[in-house]
Formats: sequence, structure tokens, C-alpha cells
Amino acid sequence: MNRIVAASQMLIDGTWVDALDGETIEVENPGDKSILATVPRGRSVDVDRAVAAAKAAFPGWSRSTPAERSRALTAIADQVEERQEELARLIASETGNALRTQSRGEASRVAEIFRHLAGLCRELKGVSSYVSASTLDYTRREPYGVVGAIVPWNSPVSLAAQKIAPAICTGNTMVLKASEVAPLGVLMLAEMCARVLPAGVLNVVTGYGNECGAPIAEHRDVRKVSFTGSTAVGRSILIAASQRIASVSLELGGKSAQIVFPDVDEDIVAEGVISAMRFTRQGQSCTAGSRLFVHEDIAETFLARLIDRLKQLHVGDPLHEDTDMGALVSKRQFDRVCAYVKGALDRSPGSLLLGGLPPEDGPLSLGYFMEPTVFLNLPDDVPMTHEEVFGPVLSVSTWRDEEEVIAKANDSEYGLAGYVWCKAGAPALRVAHALEAGWVLVNQGGGQALGHAYGGMKQSGLGRELSLEGMLEGYTEHKQVSVNLA
Ligand code: NAD
Repeated sequence: MNRIVAASQMLIDGTWVDALDGETIEVENPGDKSILATVPRGRSVDVDRAVAAAKAAFPGWSRSTPAERSRALTAIADQVEERQEELARLIASETGNALRTQSRGEASRVAEIFRHLAGLCRELKGVSSYVSASTLDYTRREPYGVVGAIVPWNSPVSLAAQKIAPAICTGNTMVLKASEVAPLGVLMLAEMCARVLPAGVLNVVTGYGNECGAPIAEHRDVRKVSFTGSTAVGRSILIAASQRIASVSLELGGKSAQIVFPDVDEDIVAEGVISAMRFTRQGQSCTAGSRLFVHEDIAETFLARLIDRLKQLHVGDPLHEDTDMGALVSKRQFDRVCAYVKGALDRSPGSLLLGGLPPEDGPLSLGYFMEPTVFLNLPDDVPMTHEEVFGPVLSVSTWRDEEEVIAKANDSEYGLAGYVWCKAGAPALRVAHALEAGWVLVNQGGGQALGHAYGGMKQSGLGRELSLEGMLEGYTEHKQVSVNLA
């Protein structure tokens, strides 16, 4: 029998509460399949309570000064820094993301997000326009009111911080739903926020998407919905919000392309491709470069180096310091990824270069572990070649003509990220400009920075986060004020 180590609660109106009907959801450790904790199974009645609290807190918080907001965000950042290792361990335990390669970085990023936004509180500026000598015309940036936020499990706490910090910075109040799969780190962040913020400014609920997420998206008092998750659910959020013309930001899925030119340093780029594919987060990243196009002239040598390097990655216990790659987040996700791999193996067994279905016995079978998996030249009708797998699975093909490879890279319903690996400047930038993606990286596999305008084109999303402009567009409305001075 698995041991439950903690029973967490939701934060509503500054108080820690259970779901009204008392039901709970178990949170599993994907590294060993033990039960880590239970959290409330919130439903629409709980969302109603949280929205009412956020609505009541709004007049007060919207009138707080930039200095007060900045102090609050700084105080949250300080607490996160103090408890960074504790937070990192909790994230690793509930997500399966390795402590050394992933979770420590996520915890430190959470502190950076709050510190960065603390510095932006005084940037809520309007413009004045000359209309006549006897009038004063100016704009104000005003908060929406209650913002609803819904986040996934893959880097749950930094994605929550990305929504909480700008909402609070701009004077909104918030109801945030954590993922049912990984809610514990988000609840720990909520605990730190609650020590600083007035009751009701931030409310955090837990529950399943249809029972607790949909009521947020549909709530008449939620004036803006900021969602990060799959494209299918994002579409339903957009439909729900359209019923009352509420504003929506969407950070959705991806199937990003990596294009490797023949002039590259193959060792360096093999390392970069692994980073871009987010293998050390088990490929569970929306920006994973999961479609790799390698130039024919170097395909053989480059793929040999790539496979060699991938074989050196150590898959295992997310909390162990030697581990490069941890576990997939849940049985559901594990089964989903296995189904994609099985489908590809059934259709084209000769395409497998590395990995494949996970071991059925031995230490890796004790959790949801999977080795890095690479397929070469799968037929186009294999779903893995164009659908988001969200697992450590790379689909490789070769190319010769630049126009053709750009067309292939853009032949996707998604447009989140793109990667170009090329020493020569002109073709690198030509391809970077031609890729239909919200974020294109040239000769680097990562490097997302606060201040970037981050978001997707096509079905990868609407709106931008992380930048000052994204915050202003995402979390404030313009008001024009026209004053007769005569
Ligand atoms: P998901 O869409 O299944 O769930 C995301 C969140 O939405 C969860 O909290 C879930 O409970 C909730 N939800 C589910 N159904 C809902 C509904 N009907 N109404 C309201 N809320 C609902 O996604 P996931 O499996 O948690 O995360 C993986 C997905 O997230 C991938 O597609 C990935 O690409 C995407 N993602 C995108 C970004 C980005 O920045 N673009 C970042 C991280 C993850």
C-alpha cells in the first residue's frame, strides 16, 4: 500500500480549504509510482468561492501603488530563493523531471520571474494625444479584474509564476488552477504568495480540467483567461470565453522543426539538438524540436554522433544527482507516448535508430521511464511525424534543397518554435525568417529569457508572455479619457 505523505488544501480568500464536497485526488510520484499526497478535487462550487474572493479583493488591489506591488513581488521572490532546494525537490518528485538537469533550474527561474516583474510595476504608462487646446486626452492601462489562469504539469511552477506575477504586477486578482497531475509545487508557491498578498488577491484551486478548469473558463466574473496547455483544450477555452467576449491568452502545443545545415560542427550541434529536443525533460516541452531535418551530406556521421551522445544520457531516479533524464509524468502520458512508439514500430520497424518501447522489468520498470528514442525516415502517414508526442521521441528525416526543407518545416498546424543550425550567417537568417514559428533559435538549443516576447503562431497560441509588452497586452486594457478643459 502506498503511503500518503501529505494532504494539501486549496487557497481561497487567504484560507486553506478542502473541496466543499470533501473529495480528493491522489498525486503520484512518477519515479516510483508511490502516492505523494492528496489534493482537493475542486468543482464549480469551489471555483465560485474562489472567483467571489478574487472579485472582492480586486478594488483594493487595483488601487495599490506600484511600490506596494513591487515590494510584494520582491518578497515572494525572496521566499522562493530561500526555499529553492525544497521547491526543486518537490517539483522533481511530482513531475519526474530530474533535479540536477531540470527542477533546480525551474525553481530558480520562479524566483527570477517574480524579481523581474517586481521591476516592471512602474511601467503602466499611457499616452496623451493633442486634440485641441481646450481638451486633455490620455490613455490609461487598467487591469481586467479577475483573471482566470489554467496551467499544465510539465514545468508547473514556472508556468504558474509566469501568470501570477504579471497579473499581480498590473493590479489584477487571480484564480489559478494547478494541473491535477502536478499541483504540489504550485501550492507551495501559493503558500509563499499568501504570506505577502492580501486575502483573495491570489486564489489557487486544484481539480480535473472538466470539473474545475472549465468552470473558470466559463465564469461570468472572470474577465480574462490565461491558459497554457494542449491545443485541443485551448480551443475549448476560446469557445467558452467567446460566449461572454472575455479576453484570452493561449500558450499551446508544438511540433517544432530543427534544420541542420552541412557546414556545422557536428559534435557541438549534436549536443544542441539534444538540448532543443528537451531530452532531459523527457521531451515534455512545448518547444521540443521533435522534427529533425539533417542535410544529406552529413546525415550518416551526424546521426552516429547524436546516437552516441544520447546513449550516454543517464535515465533514472529524478532525485539522484547522477540522473540526466527522469520519468514521464504519469501513467496516462507514459501510455500515450508508448502508443505513438508502437504505432511507428508496427508501420516501419526498420526506422528505429535508438530506444523504442520501455523495458518491462528491471529498475526502470518501477517508474514511468523511457530511453531516448530516435526514428529515421518514417513514412509521412505515421502520426508521430506530425502530432505532438510530448515524450523523448525524435523523428528524423534528411534534406537537400533549402526551399523544400522550409516548406516541410512549415507544413504543420503548429508554429511554436524553430531551430536552425548553420555556420553561414545568410542562410541561417534566411531560414529563421521563413520559419512559421513564434520563437526561432539559431545555433542554440535553449535560452529563453525574461523579457522575450514568447508565444506561438498558428495553432500554437494567441498572445505573448514574459515581455513587458506581453504583460501590458495580456493583463491590461486601454482606457481613453477625454477631458473638456474649457
Ligand atoms: P492539457 O491541455 O490536458 O491540460 C492543461 C490544463 O488544462 C490542466 O490544468 C488541465 O486540468 C486543464 N484542462 C483540461 N481540460 C480542460 C477543460 N476542458 N477546460 C479547462 N481546463 C481544462 O495539457 P497537459 O497535458 O497538462 O500539458 C501538455 C500540453 O501543454 C502540451 O500540449 C504542451 O505543448 C502544452 N504546453 C504549452 C506551453 C506553451 O508555452 N506553449 C507550455 C507548456 C505546455
